[in-house]
Amino acid sequence: MERIDKAARRAGRNPAEVKLVAVSKTVETDRIKEAIEAGVTILGENYVQEAQKKIEEIGHGVSWHFIGHLQSNKVKYAIRLFDMIHSIDSIPLAEELNRRAEKESRRMNVMVEVNLSGEASKFGTEEEKAFDIARQVSNFQNLSLIGLMTMPPYFDDPELSRPYFIQLRALKERMVKEDIPVKELSMGMSNDFEVAIEEGATHVRVGTAIFGARK
Ligand SMILES: *Cc1c(COP(=O)(O)O)cnc(C)c1O
Repeated sequence: MERIDKAARRAGRNPAEVKLVAVSKTVETDRIKEAIEAGVTILGENYVQEAQKKIEEIGHGVSWHFIGHLQSNKVKYAIRLFDMIHSIDSIPLAEELNRRAEKESRRMNVMVEVNLSGEASKFGTEEEKAFDIARQVSNFQNLSLIGLMTMPPYFDDPELSRPYFIQLRALKERMVKEDIPVKELSMGMSNDFEVAIEEGATHVRVGTAIFGARK
């Protein structure tokens, strides 16, 4: 958290604009509770079933964000469990989320996940489709479009992630010009979150730098 503060100040930003999503996939609840005691308020999970157990134990005193690939048969659980979904990558998924949110009388905060590198191994939609998805989502009654998410390829040198972060911010700015109300940028992980903050990240998703290496 100190590193987030420093990176924000270096970039002339208010550190309060940057939210830490502590990515707790594969991490046991005892260690998650320790992180909460140390000040973590948002937890990021990738798998619905794994998250369900943890959320039942830990509760909703913290926010739970879904950051993984969401399968349509898990949407109804995701709507009940999570406070935000970072990873909408298709219109059918958005439709299903909206339908389930309506059933539960909820309005879900969502982001559109953009695959800027074209890597086949990554989820997310390509840049041009992201526009259509974002426009659609902003019209759904039970979804609140708040931003965009991306996950660049892994580089040892975090500077190599910078062009992707710049590209996501530029995409956001193009959307805003077309009256698509996106504000937040979910970008940056353990090895490159400081660069992401310099380029405008509002949510950094940090796992190993908090909890150590995953098994
Ligand atoms: C696992 C994961 C992270 C965290 O990665 P670290 O390198 O451990 O910080 C962030 N975002 C997504 C989408 C992830 O799946």
